[in-house]
Amino acid sequence: MNFASNDNLMSDKITDWIRPEIRALSAYHVPDPGECIKLDAMENPYTWPEEMVDEWLQRLRGAALNRYPDPAARVLADRLREAMAVPAGQALMLGNGSDELIQIIAQAVAAPGRVIMAPEPSFVMYRMIATFCGMDYVGVPLREDFSLDCEAMLAAIAAHRPAVVFLAYPNNPTGNLFDEADVRAIIEAAPGLVVVDEAYHAFADASFMSRLGEFDNLLVMRTVSKMGLAGLRLGLLAGPSAWLSEFDKVRLPYNINVLTQVSADFALEHREVLEAQTQQITRDRETLWQALNALSGVMPYPSRANFILFRVAGDADAVFAALKASGVLIKNLNPVGGALAGCLRVTVGRPEENSAFLQALHSAIA
Ligand SMILES: *Cc1c(COP(=O)(O)O)cnc(C)c1O
Repeated sequence: MNFASNDNLMSDKITDWIRPEIRALSAYHVPDPGECIKLDAMENPYTWPEEMVDEWLQRLRGAALNRYPDPAARVLADRLREAMAVPAGQALMLGNGSDELIQIIAQAVAAPGRVIMAPEPSFVMYRMIATFCGMDYVGVPLREDFSLDCEAMLAAIAAHRPAVVFLAYPNNPTGNLFDEADVRAIIEAAPGLVVVDEAYHAFADASFMSRLGEFDNLLVMRTVSKMGLAGLRLGLLAGPSAWLSEFDKVRLPYNINVLTQVSADFALEHREVLEAQTQQITRDRETLWQALNALSGVMPYPSRANFILFRVAGDADAVFAALKASGVLIKNLNPVGGALAGCLRVTVGRPEENSAFLQALHSAIA
């Protein structure tokens, strides 16, 4: 879109009315992959067997596009409860991606001077959404190995009394799983909510879902995006109904569209297909990690997710550009700076995509 205008009046009006913290942001940038092998966004690279696609299309015939969707998405919610092992007695709220759930939580607690807290580096939307909602954001640096600095977190919690602490478990973009005892200590110390964001649960073999009910301030968030349904935009938040019924007032009606409700229910009915894919990805992650570790000048960090963060000895921007020029798109974290200077992040793809990436990387660092 072309926003350019010679109308200085308009630019004055923008300065007058768009909040300074919004003007200071840059929009969440999603590069155009073109013909590249796409290993930048933690997507599942696999599609469905032909018969399953046919059955899904059959199911879509019954979707009533002329009607509003079920506002509570009851059929899908029941399916998710079972598929995600939400403990009995805990409530569930669905979002248009877990991004929307982060936004709903922030909107419900936002007030001037209130704080959203997360370790740094972590998922960028925690900071961005805090800013959108006019809240203060406090990022607490992780240790050099990207483990939680529990003492620093507890001190920051005492000093800032955050309304919400977000803990990505495993963390993005670092890939590691925080120490369970540290997470518990944070939940116990936090005066407000702690949201454990389990976007990478399918690859992690660890969860706080079964702990819901042990704490009155713990919520667990999941998404179907990373397990193979990124196109549907569906996330879920589980926890005590007293909290979720407040958040539900903020949720826009019909936030989960008809096609998503039907398609996600269908996909989870066949979740053994998705599970076989995520297990394959988890195995291939180990192969890819070993191969990265064997390259000199490359240091991969341990990962419990479907991506690997790695540090390169040379110029990371140049390595990223060389990979892109050879047709492999990954994520360049070097521009973020700080602890991520020199770092790149690759999503685990199909074995042949991983090989193409490794070959391109080998040439890029030669
Ligand atoms: C990808 C990601 C999300 C967002 O997931 P959507 O459901 O696709 O909005 C949330 N949290 C973390 C940590 C992520 O990496």
